Amino acid sequence: MGRDQLAEHLRFAAELGVAGVTRDPAWRTREKGDGCIFPPSGVTRENTPVPFFGNPAEALAAVRADIGDCTRCKLHTQGRQQIVFGVGNPNADLMFVGEAPGADEDVQGIPFVGRAGQLLTKIIEAIELTRDDVYIANVIKCRPPQNRNPEPDEVETCEPFLFQQIDVIKPKVIVALGKFAAQGLLRTLDPISRLRGRVFDYRGAKLVPTFHPAYLLRNPSSKREVWDDMKLVRTLLKSEEKS
Ligand code: URA
Repeated sequence: MGRDQLAEHLRFAAELGVAGVTRDPAWRTREKGDGCIFPPSGVTRENTPVPFFGNPAEALAAVRADIGDCTRCKLHTQGRQQIVFGVGNPNADLMFVGEAPGADEDVQGIPFVGRAGQLLTKIIEAIELTRDDVYIANVIKCRPPQNRNPEPDEVETCEPFLFQQIDVIKPKVIVALGKFAAQGLLRTLDPISRLRGRVFDYRGAKLVPTFHPAYLLRNPSSKREVWDDMKLVRTLLKSEEKS
């Protein structure tokens, strides 16, 4: 690692709250991702129709209006307070997709505003962007009770709205946050540790799986891999032409 890269790495670590560096061999012997780029394949789903609107902001508003006060799945009977649609720039080049709203998100109606969300904000800022530059959404839009994993029928019902959001925004890069989002979007059971470090073609974007910020709160040493993933994201953002 050159001096500039090292300085950048340390700045990122400091921003994420890493107080120091370690000589632990695990930091030097971790497996490197193979960085392969998969060709388009059957892992993406059929296009979900998006109504034509003059601009992405209006199209997103139309998708939100279509969701309404949703009663399509059982989550509306299980204590959710409100739908957490998504937030950010309708013209974003970079989109983050998480799993489902938690308690804080359910109260505020905004994705990633709790502790994990604060860490996500730092991750975004570490690549010199702000939350206003990017778009943030979840695979499902209602909080599951006790933050349990979303169930297959809930995902099946809700994910078309995420596909519409993606198709409207047309981001260059999508970051799938954590196992659930990565496995769900890519329709794979591969563990997140195998998925991260790689780039997948997905609905006209490059999809980069990485660890969920909530996982990073429990496993701070994995911030190093997330920083690698974010550097990859930055490179892709610079190189990708919007399709
Ligand atoms: N975790 C998620 O996956 N999404 C949120 O919005 C908050 C926490």
